[in-house]
Amino acid sequence: MKRCTRCIMDETDPYIVFDENGVCNHCHDYDRKKNLVGYDALTSPQRHESILRMIKKHGRNKEYDCIIGVSGGVDSCFLLHHAVSNGLNVLAVHVDAGWNSDIAVKNIHKLCKSLNVELHTIVIDWPTIKELQRAYMFSGLPNLDIPQDHVFLAAMYDYALKNNVKYMLNGSNIATEGILPISWGYSNTDYRSIKDVFKKHRRKGNLKKYPHFGLLKYMYYLKKIERINLLNYINYSKKDAINTLQSMYGWEYYGGKHFESRFTKFFQSYYLPTKFNYDKRLAHLSSLIVGGELNRETALNMYLNDSPYDNISFIEDRDYILKKLDISLLEWEKIMGSPNKTENDYKNNKKILGFLQKINWIRKKIIKRKEKSINGETA
Ligand SMILES: [Zn+2]
Repeated sequence: MKRCTRCIMDETDPYIVFDENGVCNHCHDYDRKKNLVGYDALTSPQRHESILRMIKKHGRNKEYDCIIGVSGGVDSCFLLHHAVSNGLNVLAVHVDAGWNSDIAVKNIHKLCKSLNVELHTIVIDWPTIKELQRAYMFSGLPNLDIPQDHVFLAAMYDYALKNNVKYMLNGSNIATEGILPISWGYSNTDYRSIKDVFKKHRRKGNLKKYPHFGLLKYMYYLKKIERINLLNYINYSKKDAINTLQSMYGWEYYGGKHFESRFTKFFQSYYLPTKFNYDKRLAHLSSLIVGGELNRETALNMYLNDSPYDNISFIEDRDYILKKLDISLLEWEKIMGSPNKTENDYKNNKKILGFLQKINWIRKKIIKRKEKSINGETA
């Protein structure tokens, strides 16, 4: 198995390619992305200040200036801390889709209490999301997190509109998440695909109580609400963020990225690597290497020697999840042994969504070019 000489990505990504020095395409993509939207000591501090000013100006005489979805994970918690510390009046929202770990709930409450921020919780109708998640389990698709991710986004957009908030701050960032192979997951914005999976694998019911958005509504959201990945404008470090959260708020670490959800932990740590041979730790650790937070040797050691599960907690999580989704052990074995599928095996809006994404990148390139020319003029 060939492995990148700069990060630790390997040929478990079927589309990986290496240059003459053995450096993979993800490293090169990361450099391009970082150049375009990542932190830059010369321009980012200024841009950060102007974004804060813009958000505060918009929020004048309003109850809130911006909305943040708090999952309990490192990035969203640090973002909330950062926004409030910088004087933003944040509408803090947690979307509960039924899989919060106990630590996540505690973390969110500790943080909001210390920051004196009122937490708004949106609870998703459990029988509906259960049936949809169950359908995904039988779909043969790799990304079982789509039902949760789509509903988080839809609920956040609806809540922002309802509360007249224009800016949605997001914890996604290049510094710690810059590498993720596209073949390992699929967009969570494709409701056509979600509907088709549901139709083919549900036992009963409909999606009326599932907050969602199709293409037209998505365009409407994009027009009305601006999403800003604020952590890209600061010199963000995961290690520092964890230290800050622990020392200031008594926040507890989960032992892995996205482990604040018990379902996501199981899906990432067992389902994906066992059924598809995709190990997201490779991408998470590689992101930290190229971001300069971890050296390659330490990361490789962590990847080869640490296991996210011991036998007991693996069985506990598996049985908990199967019971909650009405799946028997026999059905589970069938799921794990069934042929692997891709989004192309279901109806989808992949082409149109890809086109929208391209337009967004071109828009970002134009903004960056403008910023550079302004900076060149003032320098
Ligand atoms: Zn690489």
